[in-house]
Amino acid sequence: MSRRIAILGSTGSVGRNALRVIDALNSSLVARDSSLDVSKAGYEVYALSAHSNVELLAEQVRRYNPKFVAVTDADCAGKFVALVGGPGLELLAGPLGLVQIAELDGIDTILMAVVGAAGLPAVLAAVRCGKRVAIANKEPLVIAGELVTKEAKESGAELLPVDSEHSAIFQALQAGRADEVERIVLTTSGGPFRGASAEDIQRVTLAEALLHPVWDMGPKITIDSATMMNKALEVIEARWLFDMPTGKIGVLVHPESIVHSLVEFVDGSVIAQLGRPDMCLPIQYALTYPKRVRGISEHLKLEEIGTLTFEKPDLEVFRALSLGFEVAQTGGTAAAVFNGANEAAVEQFLAGKIRFASIVELIERCLSKHNVKRDVSLDELLEADAWARNEVVECLKQKAY
Ligand code: MG
Repeated sequence: MSRRIAILGSTGSVGRNALRVIDALNSSLVARDSSLDVSKAGYEVYALSAHSNVELLAEQVRRYNPKFVAVTDADCAGKFVALVGGPGLELLAGPLGLVQIAELDGIDTILMAVVGAAGLPAVLAAVRCGKRVAIANKEPLVIAGELVTKEAKESGAELLPVDSEHSAIFQALQAGRADEVERIVLTTSGGPFRGASAEDIQRVTLAEALLHPVWDMGPKITIDSATMMNKALEVIEARWLFDMPTGKIGVLVHPESIVHSLVEFVDGSVIAQLGRPDMCLPIQYALTYPKRVRGISEHLKLEEIGTLTFEKPDLEVFRALSLGFEVAQTGGTAAAVFNGANEAAVEQFLAGKIRFASIVELIERCLSKHNVKRDVSLDELLEADAWARNEVVECLKQKAY
C-alpha cells in the first residue's frame, strides 16, 4: 500500500530533495515488482505547494500528478494555471492553501518545508488534526514550539524532525528511555569563523560571511551559520521537540559535520548518529520512519575521513549562541522576537546596510526592549515576531549599525 505525502514548499531545496528521495524509494520498489506504477509504488505525492516559483511547481505537477496544489502567492496562481491547465487538479491560491492541505483527510505524512514563519499556521493545523508532520524548517518550533508540542500531545500528532541534528537526536534517543537521558548534544560545524576572536568578528565582510565550509545552503542560512544563530535556533527547537530543559542541552563544535548529534545517557553511554552531510538522509528517515530502507544517500566510510575533531563553542565570541540558551530558558514570546529580529537584521546585512557584528547587537537590543508574554496564542506569537522586525528598522533609524 502506498503512503500519501504532502510536500509544502516543494520548490525549495528540502522539497526538491524530498522528491528525489521519493523517486529513489519508488524506483527500488518497482525494481523488485515490475507490476507497480512508479508514481505510486510506495509513496504517492498527494499535494504540493510553492510560493511563487510556479515554473518549477508546474514541472513537478506534470511529473507527480498530485491531487492538490497550493500557490501561496495568489498573484502567481493565474500564471500557474496557464502553465498546467487541465482538469483533475485542485488549485488552492493564497496563504490559506497551506492550511487547507494540512487539514486534508487521507494524507499520511506532511513534509513542512516552507521558508520562514509562513508555514506555521499549517503546522498547527496538521498537528491539531493529529497527523504525522515532518518538520524541515526551524520557525514552527522556534517561534511556537511550546504551542505546537502541547497541541501534538493532545491530538496524538507525531512530530518528526528533518533538521539533521534533530533527526540525529531523534534516532539516538531510541537507544533508551526518556528518563534515562542525561543530556542531548547538538553538533555544529562552527561556521566559517570558527576560532575567530571578538575583534575578528568585528571586521567580517559580507563575502566572507557567505562562504560556508561544509553545507551548501541559501544566503540566509549561511549567515545564520556564520553568527551561530543557526545553532541557537536549533537549541530552542530541541528544547521543545524533545521536551528537554535547557540545562540538559549542549552544543559541540565538530567541523567535519559527520557526527550529526549525540545523546548521553545516565550510565555514561553516548549514542550518536553519523553520516555524510547530506539532507536526503534525514528527509528519507522522516518518510520511512520507523523503518529504514536503502536510499540514495552515499554511505559513510570513516576510513576515508580518518580524523574527527571536537571542541567547545566559544560562547563569548558567538554571543548569538548564549542568547539562544537564554531565550530557550525564558520561553513565551522571547523566541519569536529572537527569530524575527534575526531575520530582519540578516536582511539588512545582506543588503549591505549593517555590519556583520551588528546582527547580534540588534537582536540583543530587541530582546532587552521586549516584555515577554507567556501562555500565548499563535496570533500573539506572530505579533511579537512582527514587533521585532519593526523594532530592527526603528533601531536603524536612531543610529548606524
Ligand atoms: Mg541543522
